Amino acid sequence: MSKFTADISHPRYNSLLNRHKLEVAANKGMLANSAMIAHGRGEAFDYLLGEVTTSNAKHATTNALAHLMAGKRPIITINGNTAALAGKELLQIAEAIECPVEINIFYRTEERIASILKYLEQLKQQHNITTEILGVNPDAKIPGLEGPRADCCSNGILSSDVVLVPLEDGDRCEALVRMGKTVIVVDLNPMSRSAKMASITIVDEITRVTGNMIDMLEQENPPEIDVNFVNAANLQQSVNVIAARYM
Ligand code: ATP
Ligand code: MG
Repeated sequence: MSKFTADISHPRYNSLLNRHKLEVAANKGMLANSAMIAHGRGEAFDYLLGEVTTSNAKHATTNALAHLMAGKRPIITINGNTAALAGKELLQIAEAIECPVEINIFYRTEERIASILKYLEQLKQQHNITTEILGVNPDAKIPGLEGPRADCCSNGILSSDVVLVPLEDGDRCEALVRMGKTVIVVDLNPMSRSAKMASITIVDEITRVTGNMIDMLEQENPPEIDVNFVNAANLQQSVNVIAARYM
């Protein structure tokens, strides 16, 4: 496995670091073969956005965190890419808002679930986190989906009211919305099906989102729900940011 050697002064340091994290995770068997392609699509949009958190993305993040904190049964789902890029931070956020996480991968294999679980359990130990990890023994189905990608836990995703599903597939996002949940998606592509289907879409890179959420959790004043939030309008602002940079 290659060692990470990029210098922090490199202008694309974070991008190189994220690529390295995925390379390490792939070697551990945590990722499907298509994971790099999905990441590449994200990188392309991040490049267009200027690799920064836009003000509307920050606003969506605040609103999302406020909804998670106000939820009766909030849950954070974790797939291979999010475990590799922001596993520790997602566990820390779950710990702070006292909710479980659920491993939920698109191309489910028991080997990959076991590998992601092992990685997350290591992070829990290293960082003294007690968050419960669900998803290993699914006992329920997301209505309207076929095959193993419908699998979920009855005490997790199924019964949740607010669900953070970073880098989620459009189809599954739609199925969760149909169940009446507040669905929060992190997706750098403001035009993806997931982005358009979700209740709240954060058009930002997952490691920046989790960093921002942790900052917000450390602040004295808790984030507040924006009752006037319109997801389509927020997405349009991200599209406008991209357009304005290249005019
Ligand atoms: P959809 O099914 O919603 O139309 P898609 O098929 O374009 O989406 P997938 O390949 O299923 O997308 O999933 C990858 C999505 O995750 C892409 O939209 C990509 O922009 C986004 N993405 C990838 N890496 C990151 C990241 N690090 N942070 C945020 N978003 C990311
Ligand atoms: Mg998709």
